[in-house]
Amino acid sequence: MKKSFIAILVFLLAFPVFGSSAEAVGQGPNYNGNETVKGERLTSQEDLLAEVHRAADRSQFIETEIIGQSVQGRDIPLVKFGTNPDSPTILFLTQQHGNEVMTTEAALDVIKGLSNNSKHNRELAEEINVFFLPRLNPDGAVGDVNFDISDHVGGGIATRANANNVDLNRDHNTLSQPETLALHNNVLRAYDIDYLVDFHHQGARSGIDGELVSGSILYPTNEAVNPEVREMSQRLGSVMYNAVEDRGFGLLARYNGGTANTIARNGLAVEYDIATLLFEMRGMIDHSNPNQVLGQKSNGYLIQQGVVSMEAAINAIAYGGINEADITFWETLEVQSFVEGEEETE
Ligand SMILES: [Zn+2]
Repeated sequence: MKKSFIAILVFLLAFPVFGSSAEAVGQGPNYNGNETVKGERLTSQEDLLAEVHRAADRSQFIETEIIGQSVQGRDIPLVKFGTNPDSPTILFLTQQHGNEVMTTEAALDVIKGLSNNSKHNRELAEEINVFFLPRLNPDGAVGDVNFDISDHVGGGIATRANANNVDLNRDHNTLSQPETLALHNNVLRAYDIDYLVDFHHQGARSGIDGELVSGSILYPTNEAVNPEVREMSQRLGSVMYNAVEDRGFGLLARYNGGTANTIARNGLAVEYDIATLLFEMRGMIDHSNPNQVLGQKSNGYLIQQGVVSMEAAINAIAYGGINEADITFWETLEVQSFVEGEEETE
């Protein structure tokens, strides 16, 4: 009795973010539950930089490059796994919006898994290049911005826009900000990228059939997208969708998104012929609208959803499974609708 109690205690101390994942299944508790949002549980900018540099130090297959600085001068790192320039390349982009953080935590977990010099990773590194841009908006991520965010329910620990109050995911044509300029000049134009997943978090109250979803996905819908690129995007979506569905902790809907090419999902597909997928996770860590915010207890399953879907995409692209991915599920994947009040957030 005592022994098992200690074992459980040790488990909870070792894996605090996974504490409530078992019962979560898309229904993680809201901010309005008996908990608060805790910024200190998340990876700080200093820790993020230390982790990505450590991964490069440890691994023969990883390089970390600083692609630029944010408005407030924070480094923006790009992590590159892979040894064969002729292999396909996927980029996982996270945190264009500073208050959408769990996919960055997921990316750091996947980087950690790729950073040992195992036989598995050595073989994988020959078959695929996996790039991570884990936090395009480091100023918004820590709430260090030049405008007032004191109305945020979590006290402004993080916010959507960059320090100049520009939404980076509306800046992919104008490139008016140092963060988007660094992404385009030093990543998208510098490397031959085939696939890109743009990770976000949406509001906490989206659902299908009255059931709250754990996330939503969508391929590029702008009419100027090359049909082959769109189909590759749909295949990527199929792989990630099935990986989450198989695990049982997620319920995914089709995102109700538009055709504007100022956003990454459309703009990068049109401009660079990159197969893109938008992947929205449920709930943000801070926002002025309480319906957008999801509390600490949901972190575990959201991070897992990110890890599982990233690993599925990596394996499918590396070993060819993506070519067999069934895209007919898109025809029946239900569009999410808003349960109570919520604004669109892509
Ligand atoms: Zn977003």
